[in-house]
Amino acid sequence: MSSEPSGSPGTLFVVSTPIGNLGDLSARARQVLGEVDVLACEDTRRTGRLLELVGVAPPRLVALHGHNEAARSAGLVDRLLGGSSVALVSDAGTPLVSDPGERLVAAAIAASVPVVAVPGPSALLAALVVSGIDTGRWRFEGFLPRKGAERRARLAAIAAADHPSICYESPHRIEATLADLAIHCGGERRVVVARELTKLHEQTWRGTLAEGIDVARAGEPRGEHVIVVDAAPQAERPGSSDLELAIGRLVAAGLERRDAVTAAVVLLGASRRDAYEASLQVARD
Ligand code: SAM
Repeated sequence: MSSEPSGSPGTLFVVSTPIGNLGDLSARARQVLGEVDVLACEDTRRTGRLLELVGVAPPRLVALHGHNEAARSAGLVDRLLGGSSVALVSDAGTPLVSDPGERLVAAAIAASVPVVAVPGPSALLAALVVSGIDTGRWRFEGFLPRKGAERRARLAAIAAADHPSICYESPHRIEATLADLAIHCGGERRVVVARELTKLHEQTWRGTLAEGIDVARAGEPRGEHVIVVDAAPQAERPGSSDLELAIGRLVAAGLERRDAVTAAVVLLGASRRDAYEASLQVARD
């Protein structure tokens, strides 16, 4: 990718790379990696190997990882402002997703450098879409804090969430994390553990947290894991006829309609909208 004419900055490409299966490198990612002036990567040897395997002549490689990102970002933005094009990759998957890159992207944006995504593999989406768990709304938790109050607070939030939560976990901590999740969510909560996605020994396990602990204990703790925890079971909402009956009784007992609606929301777990609709029906009857 030739440098832009002087005066225009180059583009920062945020490029996703495979999480295990080389075939998942997109044609566009391959092209961009082969054409940029500079490639920022976590580990130059590892990325050099990837380029070799996919037959891309390596551009200039610059190591950018958790420990040097702040310092390196400034130099990379200078190059971008000088017209060089830069691609950012991580060791695997999508940069910035539990991986370095946030500071570089923020610095590029602050310097008005164009930032373009070359999307592709990410373990979190791969796990979510094979989990069988509701994909409408969910929250990515990354790696949970290892211990202490912060870990407990995050576990409690996952336990109470009305949406599924997705966590990354290393093989030697999977059993302990499933056990902590079971303490907070209860052993019956549905969980999916996806392991070695896109690789030869890919495995997706579905069951309860209590069962998951046994499975993790029995097996060899090997490979990278994604945990998808289902939402907290929601209390069943009352139907419209139950609501009308309850609100009708509350109004007959002397409550204002507005107060009867609030009582139905608080005591019966109805949505405010349903309770309001029921109160209108009671008024019509
Ligand atoms: N940026 C990456 C992405 O987009 O998925 C994630 C990087 S993070 C440092 C590494 C974690 O991602 C692993 O510990 C594991 O939880 C998850 N992971 C990465 N590759 C995986 C795979 N092939 N199967 C299951 N989980 C994987």
